[in-house]
Amino acid sequence: MNDLLPLWIVLGVVLLVALATVGTVSVRRRARRDVVEPPPAAPSAPPTAPATGTPPPGTATVEAPPEVEEPSAAATAPAIERPEPVGGRLVRLRERLARSGSPLGARLLSVLSRDHLSEDDWDELEETLLLADVGAGPAGELIDALRTKVRVLGVRDAASVRELLRTELVALVDPSLDRSLATSPRTGEDGSPVPAVVLVVGVNGTGKTTTVGKLARVLVAEDRSVVLGAADTFRAAAADQLETWGSRVGVPTVRSDRDGADPAAVAFDAVRRGRTEGVDVVLVDTAGRLQNKQGLMDELGKIRRVITKEAPLSEVLLVLDATTGQNGLNQARVFGEVAGVTGIVLTKLDGTARGGIVVAVQRELGVPVKLVGLGEGPDDLAPFDPEQFVDGLLGD
Ligand code: GDP
Repeated sequence: MNDLLPLWIVLGVVLLVALATVGTVSVRRRARRDVVEPPPAAPSAPPTAPATGTPPPGTATVEAPPEVEEPSAAATAPAIERPEPVGGRLVRLRERLARSGSPLGARLLSVLSRDHLSEDDWDELEETLLLADVGAGPAGELIDALRTKVRVLGVRDAASVRELLRTELVALVDPSLDRSLATSPRTGEDGSPVPAVVLVVGVNGTGKTTTVGKLARVLVAEDRSVVLGAADTFRAAAADQLETWGSRVGVPTVRSDRDGADPAAVAFDAVRRGRTEGVDVVLVDTAGRLQNKQGLMDELGKIRRVITKEAPLSEVLLVLDATTGQNGLNQARVFGEVAGVTGIVLTKLDGTARGGIVVAVQRELGVPVKLVGLGEGPDDLAPFDPEQFVDGLLGD
């Protein structure tokens, strides 16, 4: 026992030192919390709380990371738009023409309202018509008709003069032309539906691709099913541009992955797909390179030939920029000769006060203006209506 005494003493000292140390640390801790730590906050959501749970109000500022979900097709695909109905667009045509300042109508009226019309006045009228791109032939006809009526009827008051001019301008634009678009599917020899095929031609920059996109929207607004064919394979961005137009309204685009691919092959694929899927209308955009007449004829001729192996062409629409005047008319003449044009789309009518091009191009090609482009907006394409157009020119 006596031998163990020093050991007991050592153990006792160690125990005492240990107890003293623990006590000091715990006192220090308590003291530090009293000075530095803020008062305990309201209870926060437990870190293990599920991420989807709603934390109590005024609590947890740090949220558990949200669960990562695979994006669903519905979340990534852009919402399909519902295009504007076509009916209301005719009103816009009048508004836009009226807003363009319409010097044609206003200037004609101001001359015609003079008390005694001299030879100079008639010359001024003719010049005004020529400056508005009406064309020499139609301008001469209009002047002759007005001269006769003014002399015979003797009308001089503003309202009568205006009515007279309106009647003559409407006659010049020719309301008797059939401006309907052939977009109804037919029945094939085997009884299967055959889509209407609309080929869209014209020089680059006139608004072809935009017009195809807008036209797809018009057709969708009329509950038609549509397939687009990106046969402008020479301009790299054209197929993308067309695809974007189509996807906005849920219309598929047939295209080639390769720049410079054979446009006829793309056109053929588009029509075949339209036929296989039983759609109502296939719209085919084409390249509009300004090449020599023979080259254009070869290219468009081939497109026409391969398309008609699958389905007859319902329409060949020539897109023409209304702001290009005589130059545009020259282009129209070439396309008219090689493409078998059935209708004209006059774009950028919002950007010109020279609406007379409507008259000139119809005369030049012997086919009606069927649609007009009134701006860069997606629904800025309207069916052409002679009376609304003339009212717009006269600033009604
Ligand atoms: P494409 O080369 O013939 O296919 O011509 P695009 O469709 O690419 O159009 C050329 C430019 O004309 C684009 O900036 C269009 O937004 C514009 N454009 C097309 N139609 C109209 C229109 O009716 N009015 C106006 N102001 N711009 C238009």
